[in-house]
Amino acid sequence: MNYDQENIFAKILRNEANCIKVYEDSKVLAFMDVMPQAPGHTLVIPKFETTDLINLPDEYLDPLLKATRNIAAAIKKVYSPTGVMILQLNGEEAGQTVFHLHFHIIQRSEGLNYRFHSRDIEDTEILENEAKKIRQAIVI
Ligand code: AMP
Repeated sequence: MNYDQENIFAKILRNEANCIKVYEDSKVLAFMDVMPQAPGHTLVIPKFETTDLINLPDEYLDPLLKATRNIAAAIKKVYSPTGVMILQLNGEEAGQTVFHLHFHIIQRSEGLNYRFHSRDIEDTEILENEAKKIRQAIVI
């Protein structure tokens, strides 16, 4: 599949669309999922145009995984869930809906309402508040 320059995450990377930032470095950007499946649902993307993990160059792999791990640790610290789910979908058949590589980080606990994928848009103020807590808990 060809990379579509007009996908929403490409626009976020070019500052043509807004996001609620959680973390950024020279190779990675992480921001709140606007349709969170649980509070704190964060997306981590490389600053490299690829639809999927298979085509990610080596130099982005470590920074992407490291940021994902560090944000997952921050989410554990903030929400104290019993589990953290890290998801990464490659291709429409795998359920991918935005075609710029991304990892989902989603807290999971027994009894915590786990919402549907890509369905309900969350209030910006709530997302800002969750992002603030996660940002403060990130240890690089
Ligand atoms: P996937 O199905 O793995 O491609 O997931 C794409 C994710 O992007 C979904 O969880 C959506 O809720 C999320 N999403 C879509 N548009 C935006 C946006 N503008 N900002 C943040 N997250 C988004």
